[in-house]
Amino acid sequence: MHPPRSLGRFSFGFGDRFGRQAHAQLQACRQTVADGVDLIPVWNKSHREHRLIGTAPASTRAAADAAVQALGWTRSYFVDADHIRRATVDEALAASDFFTIDVAESIGQRADPAAVAAFRRQHPELVGSRIEIAGLDRAFALTEAELERIAAQYLRAVQAAGELYRHIAQAKDPGTFVTEVSLDETEQPQTPPELLVILAALADEQVPLATIAPKFTGRFNKGVDYAGAVAQFEREFSDDVRVLAHAVQRYGLPPALKLSIHSGSDKFSLYPALHRALARLQAGVHVKTAGTSWLEEVIGLAESGGEGLALAKELYARASARVDELCAPYATVLDLDRARLPSVGQVQRWGAEEYVRALRHDPLEVRFNPHLRQLLHVSFKVAAEMGDRYLDQLVACASVIARNVTGNLLERHLRPIFLGLTTPPSPSPPCP
Ligand SMILES: [Zn+2]
Repeated sequence: MHPPRSLGRFSFGFGDRFGRQAHAQLQACRQTVADGVDLIPVWNKSHREHRLIGTAPASTRAAADAAVQALGWTRSYFVDADHIRRATVDEALAASDFFTIDVAESIGQRADPAAVAAFRRQHPELVGSRIEIAGLDRAFALTEAELERIAAQYLRAVQAAGELYRHIAQAKDPGTFVTEVSLDETEQPQTPPELLVILAALADEQVPLATIAPKFTGRFNKGVDYAGAVAQFEREFSDDVRVLAHAVQRYGLPPALKLSIHSGSDKFSLYPALHRALARLQAGVHVKTAGTSWLEEVIGLAESGGEGLALAKELYARASARVDELCAPYATVLDLDRARLPSVGQVQRWGAEEYVRALRHDPLEVRFNPHLRQLLHVSFKVAAEMGDRYLDQLVACASVIARNVTGNLLERHLRPIFLGLTTPPSPSPPCP
């Protein structure tokens, strides 16, 4: 048996669509550690991403291991099989040591009444009496009917998580991987009583939960800022932290249990609130992003001019012809107004600087275009279809891309979240 592996207090997940940016991503983590933050990096990639690009989990593992070796990284790091389900877990077993169990499809499938009744008998503490949770504004009391409604809504999902966890634990030594349960791809945020019931049920299933990703209020669209009430998010996040602490005490869940935020990256307006809450509550967090480094690849290609810029323009032209197809899998996490996309002809006339200014996520830049950014965010499949032409340009423009990937993670994500630092957005660098 190994000692159980831990995500530490702070961990950050990033995606690397084509497996070429792990080194630049780890550089940003190294700098964050040098800044004094106890940070654990996680490379996450979902089955859907692998399928769209034509890669396999072993390639994510290989890229992460190579970066770790090249940079002499001695701290922990993880490879996350993101939003894994029973149908897709097996191909990820060998390469992954972090499993994000997605139970969204079971939420709302009504649980067996006998299971609901058994859960209610098992948990008399959840019914009737006032449940005092340290730090929550008010105690809450659950009636039997409310508890039954919540259990009926979530027990199937929790049982599915337990089954999937045990499936993974049969293949791998339980001490060697960490488990997350994600509830984020649902309609409604979970309330504190719902989260408490879910955690009690996960403890019953003996899932050694490292992180849980509830659904938060507001919209977490891909690659653009948060759309919602920041104060409400901060309150939900704080309440959820308190519920987790209570559940750890009451149900014996792992003491290091923490929230995971599937941010969709670039939630700049949330980061100060998140930083405040983490400091105030002395809490930990896992923040999961995915596509922001891929967009930095496109920015780096464009900024490099010449063939790189030409390829970035071609990517946009091809994507523009396939908006519906490319956006369909991500419909719930995009707010894209086609009327505000630049025409292919306009983009063809752009120089490097104009392309970069339109795509780079600088909210103060008047030429920043969130519609173009969201379209390109979901267009990595188009780059995958370009095959070696795309990969060869990544090599040709490697140093410019790496500077963008590292700088983006460090200045726009890691330092604002974990150090509370917000640097003024940098002006577009001069073009070669
Ligand atoms: Zn998610």
